[in-house]
Amino acid sequence: MDVLPIALKLQQQPVLIVGGGSIALRKARLLVSAGARLDIVAPAILPELRIMAEASGGQCWLQPYSVTCLEQRANLQEQVNQENQTNQESQQQQTGQDRQGQPAYRLVIAATDQPAVNRQVFEDCEARWILVNSVDDPPNCRFIVPAIIDRSPLLVSVVTNGQAPVLARQLRTRIESLVPQSLGDLARFSGEWRQAVKQAIPEPDTRRIFWEELYAGRIGEMVRSGRMQQASDAMPQQIQDWQQPAGEVYLVGAGPGDPDLLTFKALRLMQQADVVVYDRLVSPPILELVRRDAERIYVGKARADHTLPQQDINELLVTLAQQGKRVCRLKGGDPFIFGRGGEEIETLAAAGVSFQVVPGITAASGCSAYAGIPLTHRDYAQSVRFLTGHLKAGSPALPWPELVHERQTLVLYMGLIGLPHICQSLIAHGQRPDMPVALISKGTLPQQQVVTGTLADIAARVDSQQIAAPTLIIIGEVVKLRDQLKWFN
Ligand code: SAH
Repeated sequence: MDVLPIALKLQQQPVLIVGGGSIALRKARLLVSAGARLDIVAPAILPELRIMAEASGGQCWLQPYSVTCLEQRANLQEQVNQENQTNQESQQQQTGQDRQGQPAYRLVIAATDQPAVNRQVFEDCEARWILVNSVDDPPNCRFIVPAIIDRSPLLVSVVTNGQAPVLARQLRTRIESLVPQSLGDLARFSGEWRQAVKQAIPEPDTRRIFWEELYAGRIGEMVRSGRMQQASDAMPQQIQDWQQPAGEVYLVGAGPGDPDLLTFKALRLMQQADVVVYDRLVSPPILELVRRDAERIYVGKARADHTLPQQDINELLVTLAQQGKRVCRLKGGDPFIFGRGGEEIETLAAAGVSFQVVPGITAASGCSAYAGIPLTHRDYAQSVRFLTGHLKAGSPALPWPELVHERQTLVLYMGLIGLPHICQSLIAHGQRPDMPVALISKGTLPQQQVVTGTLADIAARVDSQQIAAPTLIIIGEVVKLRDQLKWFN
């Protein structure tokens, strides 16, 4: 992150705009709607701007900017105080600022059409630690005004750090159409009941579930359809009767790596879970999409380093769910294809824990698509077999004679180490040595690498290169189509 988005409480706070034209007017509207007290300094000030500033409790100075403007409010305040003793207290309360030697403004906006003046304002503010923004001039900004979607009290702000304001505005338009006006009502309603709910349900994780259920349920619907009174009437009972639902496990396929290949359901459950239990194949960009404050438990599984034995993982899922947690068991690819997902839910079923299974795009589909190798094709392959190439006691127990077939594609998971043995065995059982083979490393990710060859030479070709796990092997005539169909990277 190059900048930190924050939300400023500006009610009654003194803010200065340098500039009196249409750019200043735009910013003034925003500041006044956030409750700021607005001062303006400029040689000429639009009447609308002047009225707006004065209505906010601020002042206008018809003069060019100079550094004294940054202290002007303090000077002016002294005069006001002398003139009107009785006003003194309320004035000081309102500004809360006018102390000797302190900056006179929370924020300053440089909105002139003269870059040199904007630059000067920026430098003067920087020297005084006052937050400053120069309109459309990113280098001379200490803070950036985001594009805003206003459903007060709910606000969404979009920041591109001055790099792509048009993109920010486009995104804002899209979000505007996604976020209904009634969401603001829902936020306000939540604010009104927040304390009462906090008192009744002190544990934060449990309370979050209460709110999630409320938004998705009857009362949420009442608020969204404008029946606020009815919703308020129903709340005390809702709070009193509410019971935390039992824990549940979501066995979720996270796909082969590219986060765009997640399903909507996977994403929704990743965002809803209290705990995420994940292994090595789940790529970092996918983990980024997990709810930020969910607990994350890594259970490993590199080839030689089994961080947690399978039995322990199975038991961990049961224990977490029995604590009432919503557990997302996130697995690479599809959980039911070489994923041991079956074993995990067998244990859950035996323990009476409820679960859901969300399929994912398996490595065979992801890698073949991103490598431009269709797994079946009218002319080359009428069937496809998914196999494990994982060596058990030195050699994979594969049904070799069945695998020697002209019009069948073989896909081998976990086959890198066993590759020479696999190729030799297929040839020994009668397959053509020139049968095409592809090895795909880190499929669907930006680092994807594809090595192609034949049964006779692929092992040597792979050996001569630095290949990173995970890798998938595709054997069959369809591999030849890659020359024509490759598109990724
Ligand atoms: N359940 C997973 C497979 C787990 S077994 C799925 O459906 O995809 C682990 C094996 O999957 C790895 O050894 C590798 O052969 C394959 N694999 C998973 N992701 C991969 C990727 N992005 N690129 C290449 N192979 C991958």
